[in-house]
Amino acid sequence: MFDKVLIANRGEIALRIQRACRQLGIKTVAIHSEADRQARYVELADQALCVGPAQPGLSYLNRSAILLAAEMSGAQAIHPGYGFLSENAEFAESVEAAGLTFIGPTSASIRTMGDKVAAKRAMREAGVPCVPGPDGGLPEDAAEILEIGRSVGYPVIVKAAGGGGGRGMRVVKTEPELLDAISVTREEARRAFGKPELYIEKFLEHPRHVEIQVLCDTHGNALWLGARDCSMQRRHQKVLEEAPAPGIPEALIREVGERCVAACKQINYRGAGTFEFLYEDGSFYFIEMNTRLQVEHPITELTSGVDIVQEQIRIARGEPLRIAQADIAAAGHAIECRINAEDPYTFLPSPGKIARWDLPGGNGVRVDTHVTAGYAVPPYYDSLIAKVIAHGATRDEALARMRVALSEMRVDGISTNIALHREILLDQPFCRGGVDIHHLERWLTQRKATQKQPDSDGNLPG
Ligand code: ADP
Repeated sequence: MFDKVLIANRGEIALRIQRACRQLGIKTVAIHSEADRQARYVELADQALCVGPAQPGLSYLNRSAILLAAEMSGAQAIHPGYGFLSENAEFAESVEAAGLTFIGPTSASIRTMGDKVAAKRAMREAGVPCVPGPDGGLPEDAAEILEIGRSVGYPVIVKAAGGGGGRGMRVVKTEPELLDAISVTREEARRAFGKPELYIEKFLEHPRHVEIQVLCDTHGNALWLGARDCSMQRRHQKVLEEAPAPGIPEALIREVGERCVAACKQINYRGAGTFEFLYEDGSFYFIEMNTRLQVEHPITELTSGVDIVQEQIRIARGEPLRIAQADIAAAGHAIECRINAEDPYTFLPSPGKIARWDLPGGNGVRVDTHVTAGYAVPPYYDSLIAKVIAHGATRDEALARMRVALSEMRVDGISTNIALHREILLDQPFCRGGVDIHHLERWLTQRKATQKQPDSDGNLPG
């Protein structure tokens, strides 16, 4: 049992976690870099400690400084949020070794799921459908590799077992390209992830990205909270997400959700997690599991009625889940727009001081942000400054609420991608629902070709 939590993160998620702690009557310790000294969640925390200079490597990734901050503040648990140290098995291990509670899965689960070959093998054994391809890593022998390529069938995708963040992957269309692609990817993997192991699977050409949120306690109970569709991506980065995934038969989603729950029980999973799938032609294919809270968790909170962050904390305190699968609502539809401090045409980051910050509100609208007017977006971190989430009884109602919300939102002083979201919300194929993971990139290419380009001040001509 703990009553003081150190939040090892920054930005909107630091405030999100702080709110959950306070609602549970738990004291909070904020850590921050020199650049985040003035942040709102730092001011609102019961205690705040600076852990280093602006550069993430010296502050938010500085494990010994964070552990020291926990010791000095008397925090008995650490919530890692997302990004930074949230999927770092050694950090989770050192938190536990220091006698503190890591609010997340065991370091063993993090390690297994961080190795894509091990994760895929574990999932296949647990009956979760995976992308066609062998379970193990690739051999060294060229003839054996070519044989594997042939049996999977082209196009294939070569992936690094230790890869992440959309890196360490290469699509191979025909056999003569395979061996070269493998040596380049192997070298990349060795340098970037310190692990040269590769594997091959079938490359799916027009999939959707559909993921399942799970919650598991330490008493053998596990739940799935519904599906999210995160197909609207640019360079493998999610831009807009929705729950549930439109147009997929409920019975099919339930079947996959139940398999995820069975897999969690089999691997003794603990805490919140997300199973990511590609969905194509009516079938689901597991690609990876994220062993942490996700950016897009609020859309599942609105449709399932479960406060995922509070549940993470309760689970870490050893409490059994208070809800059963049958209690989980599948109420309406929710959409999230990620608001980034970036140019809506060039996508270049746009740090700087926010002069005006008008937020939307009203029925079915939630805004998760740490930003206030006068706040200066630092140049050192991810450009996410707010998440606007709209919930409605139907998808159309959620879309209408989001359009109105974004029309009310006004940010001056920096550039944001709000204009991009407003345009996306008028795109016919997106509004019909069920677009694939390439849709947004295609749409952006087309927009570039047909639209009048803004001048250097960002104003459209005419
Ligand atoms: P990362 O951990 O780097 O995010 P993932 O395995 O989740 O890697 O894959 C990232 C993205 O790459 C997916 O969302 C999808 O767009 C694409 N991708 C991965 N595997 C395949 C595949 N077998 N077929 C087609 N696209 C794939």
